[in-house]
Amino acid sequence: MDHVISLIRDIPDFPKPGIVFKDITPVLGDANAFASVIDAFQSKLEGDAVHRVVGIEARGFIFGAALAQRLGVGFVPVRKPGKLPSNIDRITYDLEYGTDALEMHKDALNSSERVLIVDDLLATGGTAEATASLVRKQGAEVAAFGFVLELGFLRGRARLNSDRVISLVTF
Ligand code: AMP
Repeated sequence: MDHVISLIRDIPDFPKPGIVFKDITPVLGDANAFASVIDAFQSKLEGDAVHRVVGIEARGFIFGAALAQRLGVGFVPVRKPGKLPSNIDRITYDLEYGTDALEMHKDALNSSERVLIVDDLLATGGTAEATASLVRKQGAEVAAFGFVLELGFLRGRARLNSDRVISLVTF
């Protein structure tokens, strides 16, 4: 994981003043680093029954889809409003200023499926918590959450109310 950590860049004041953006694109550009992220998730998930990976737009698609292939399970995208073409479930959630929404196709999951929710980064946990609500609305169970990075000082983990929150690197 040291090689992965060395590739994560801090971009100050992006997308807004005061935010330090953790840029994982150099990890994606390095075949060994990208593979070691997927290897690490796979080994941490050994013994967990996972039937589907749900990835959060947009960087959760990249890691989530690669991991779903590795685990031999299907992939489901959770998207920003207006992007999915068929019938959707929507959840609105609070941001520091205002609200945001996420959508998933209504027929994406079967009840009784155990789902892994994947994103690149856990900050306050609002995005992942909203995604978990979409998953549960379809009767599926959240087996675990997987993040490449966790900003531990924001305490998003506590908000997720799950004993299976996997993060590969904590800042
Ligand atoms: P949160 O809902 O606060 O946990 O925010 C998580 C979502 O926002 C994820 O989709 C992240 O990709 C993105 N995000 C939040 N903070 C950062 C950051 N400092 N650097 C990169 N992405 C971030």
